[in-house]
Amino acid sequence: MREPQAPAPRSDSRAITALRQLKEEQPDLASAVDLQVELLQLQRRVQTRVSLPSINLDPKHLTGLLTNPPVLQFEHLPVEWGDLRLLLRGVAAAMRNHDAIEEATFRRVEAICRDASVLPRAIRSWYESTRPGSPPLDAEFEGLEAVLQQAMRPFLTRAADAVMARIDLADWKRGTCPLCGGEPDLAVITPAADRLLICGRCSARWRFHQLACPFCLNEERRRITSFASRDGQYRLYACDVCERYLKAFDARRAARPVMTVVDSVATLPLDAAAMQKGYK
Ligand SMILES: [Zn+2]
Ligand SMILES: [Zn+2]
Repeated sequence: MREPQAPAPRSDSRAITALRQLKEEQPDLASAVDLQVELLQLQRRVQTRVSLPSINLDPKHLTGLLTNPPVLQFEHLPVEWGDLRLLLRGVAAAMRNHDAIEEATFRRVEAICRDASVLPRAIRSWYESTRPGSPPLDAEFEGLEAVLQQAMRPFLTRAADAVMARIDLADWKRGTCPLCGGEPDLAVITPAADRLLICGRCSARWRFHQLACPFCLNEERRRITSFASRDGQYRLYACDVCERYLKAFDARRAARPVMTVVDSVATLPLDAAAMQKGYK
C-alpha cells in the first residue's frame, strides 16, 4: 500500500517543464500555459503545509462509505482558511490577468475573501452542490466555480490522495467521483486498454466502462462519437444523448504518464473542435 504524501514538488517541476515545452511547440497555447504555470506555483506554496483529512483512514471504514457517497464530507476537508483566502486572491488575479475571468468576477472573489463568514459558506455550497440530493450551487456564488476549484485544489488533492491510498474502488461503477462527487474532466487509457476517469476537483481516479458516457451513462456505441487527435496522443468521446464530451490521454501511445495540468492545456484544440460540433 502506498503511503499517502503531500504531492511531491518534483512532479510539479516536471509539469512546469512539460508546459514550457508545450508552449515552444504550440505558441498558440502560450497564454493558457502561462496561466497554468502561475496557478501551479501559487498552489505549490500552500501544498506542502496541508494536513491530512479529518476522516477515519481505516481501509475497511473508507470502502464501507461507498454505499453512501461521496466518501469525503465537507467537514473532513483539511482547509486552512487563511491559506485558502491567499490562494483565492492569487488565483483570481492570475485568471484575470490572462482574461480567463471578467473584471466583475474578480471583484466578487475579492468581496468573498473580505468577509470571514461568507467564504466558508461559498466553499461548502460549491463542494456539496455535486452531492446527490443536495441543493445546486447557491446563486450568490454562481460563475465562481472555476476560481473556487483552482483555489481548493491543494486541499482536495491532499485529502483524495490519502483516501485513494487505502480505499478499494473495485466495485465503483459510476461516472462521478466516489471521493468528492465531482465530475471527471479527463480520462486515461491504460496500456491494458482500461479507461480510468480523473476527477476534475480532487484528481481521484477510478476505472469506468471503456466507451460509456460518464455524464448520462449512455453506452450505445452508435450514439457515441470517438476519435483520436492527429498525433494519436489523445482521444475524445462525445455523447449524442447528453451532448457532452470527455477527453482522454492515451497512455498506450505515450512516452510519459498522464499529467492532468499539462494534458488539459494540450487538449484545448480538441475542446474547440468538440464545441464547434455542438458538444459541451
Ligand atoms: Zn473528486
Ligand atoms: Zn451522455
